[in-house]
Amino acid sequence: MGRSADCLFCRIVSGEIPAELVAQGDEWIAFRDVAPQAPTHVLIIPRMHVDSVADLDQTSGELAGQLLLAAAETAQILGVSEDGYRLVTNRGIRAGQSVFHLHIHLLAGRDMAWPPG
Ligand code: AMP
Repeated sequence: MGRSADCLFCRIVSGEIPAELVAQGDEWIAFRDVAPQAPTHVLIIPRMHVDSVADLDQTSGELAGQLLLAAAETAQILGVSEDGYRLVTNRGIRAGQSVFHLHIHLLAGRDMAWPPG
């Protein structure tokens, strides 16, 4: 689960590819999605390479918890916490995962439909 040279999000973590950072912690960064699906659309990712949520195990419990806390903290920083937001993580092609580095989408600023498409 180290850095993967050909992983887009690892290259954002290293600063090789620019991104608009909105928050960060020791184990994670949060940056704006290039193709926003809501007025606020931010991705929260671990600095460490993990393909998806399915690749977390018993040893990654702390990281998993930190990512969830990071998402809530990022929502506070962006000022969308009171209004409401949605967190989504896609696992696998069928769910729509296109970047295979674990990320949580933080979507806010509009009404959200349920069920999601
Ligand atoms: P997913 O489809 O769940 O894997 O989400 C990947 C997300 O990454 C999509 O919403 C893309 O718009 C977003 N994305 C792809 N490349 C970049 C980039 N260079 N900077 C920021 N977001 C990106």
